[in-house]
Amino acid sequence: AAARDLRAETAGPGDAVELAKGHLVQPWPFAGSVGAEARALIGEGDGIYITDGTGKKLIDGPAGMWCVNIGHRREELAKVMYNQAMALSYNTPWYTMNAPSAELAMRIAGHAPGDLSHVFFTTGGSSAVETALRFMQFYNNVRGRPEKKLIMSRGGAYHGSTYLSASLNGRPRTRDWMDGADDLVVKLSSPDPFRRPAGMSISAFADLLVDEFRDTLARVGADRIGAFVGEPVQASGGVIVPPDGYLTRIREICRDNDILYVSDEVVTAFGRLGHVFASGDVFGIDPDMITFAKGVTSGYFPLGGVIISERLLEELRRSNHPDAMFGHGLTYTSHPVGCAVALRNLDILEDSVLAHAREVAPYFQAQLKTLEEVPLVGEVRGLGLMGCVECVADRESKDPLQLDKDVGKRIDAHCHELGLLVRPLINMCVMSPPLIIIREQIDDMVAILREGISRTMDDLRKEGVW
Ligand code: PMP
Repeated sequence: AAARDLRAETAGPGDAVELAKGHLVQPWPFAGSVGAEARALIGEGDGIYITDGTGKKLIDGPAGMWCVNIGHRREELAKVMYNQAMALSYNTPWYTMNAPSAELAMRIAGHAPGDLSHVFFTTGGSSAVETALRFMQFYNNVRGRPEKKLIMSRGGAYHGSTYLSASLNGRPRTRDWMDGADDLVVKLSSPDPFRRPAGMSISAFADLLVDEFRDTLARVGADRIGAFVGEPVQASGGVIVPPDGYLTRIREICRDNDILYVSDEVVTAFGRLGHVFASGDVFGIDPDMITFAKGVTSGYFPLGGVIISERLLEELRRSNHPDAMFGHGLTYTSHPVGCAVALRNLDILEDSVLAHAREVAPYFQAQLKTLEEVPLVGEVRGLGLMGCVECVADRESKDPLQLDKDVGKRIDAHCHELGLLVRPLINMCVMSPPLIIIREQIDDMVAILREGISRTMDDLRKEGVW
């Protein structure tokens, strides 16, 4: 195919935009602009800041995609990457192993709750969720329970972009035009307290969710359900913090019914909620498997994984089928460079960043909460260093402003001009800055966000749509 050769030229930002439009398919494109779209070009990162293609400095509000936890441009991570690549850049995982992956597995297991003891490393979050699900299928096949394979997931969930992980997703827009393994998935409601039935208390709402879970088991048959998969805090669904006690109750029901509880901590692990894992330390649950990615390397290298309970592995070892093979593996499983980066990243988190995140989180939440003063805002919610500003058509009805109003994107555009990158989600803006953010920077971030929302509100008023 005809391709412009820039090797002889000095490529500037304008060139990159043209090249992207000519040759790059970007993620989550609309059919009308697929392969023909330019997005905001990012040139450099430093700490909590990134610089766009025009040289404008912005606060990285979403920390990349909830992942640049220790911040951009950490020289020690770059050095570790260099040193490991010079020592050993790759080894074939089918019949060899490397030391960084073994050490990382041990360090991760040390932070994991309950009897989670072993790690299978993947290339990211989708492959981690996919691995957990395929492991559940294998586990039940080996146990002679081939009918026990259905997977429960919830509205508002996001678990990935591979076929099976994507089939669990609960956000309609990511599913509407896509196929999925629908016959394998049983859907539950989102545990979103903001959208609970009018007049209902939050504890009654938790009861309602638990009842729905039990009713679904009774209707579908617990003997057909292999796993429940849930994010402790639904991230891409709009930072949905579930009602107190709900997760522990679901965990107990799963245990009673031989259903594997998979806690998807792709976003919440490695410091986002102030701890390496949130399942045990924040929510008091001990899942059968935890999936992680993103923050494990602070986004410096694509790596994810599943932590698996010792009990499950022991059951397989003792099965009547010791030769049955878990036919699942990835070329880049246990990648030495990724694991070396993750080890250093974990040192930094343990040394100072986790404690800092715990210390600064209440301030972050309190400052963000002040945005509820802006009339366009229906609710500000969050936990740790995850927050979401949800805009509504009307505070009484809580009607979300629909996609055609493009509120999130408009706020993002204003904020970009003012020096902040936000993650727009239809009528919401999600904030999850690098965990190293300090109070003054939180003040800057919230001030810009306030101004961006106010300007958007003025635009909507002028257009007569709000
Ligand atoms: N699970 C959750 C909770 C996520 O937020 C994401 C990504 N945003 C994934 C899984 C998929 O991870 P990845 O994009 O690394 O494949």
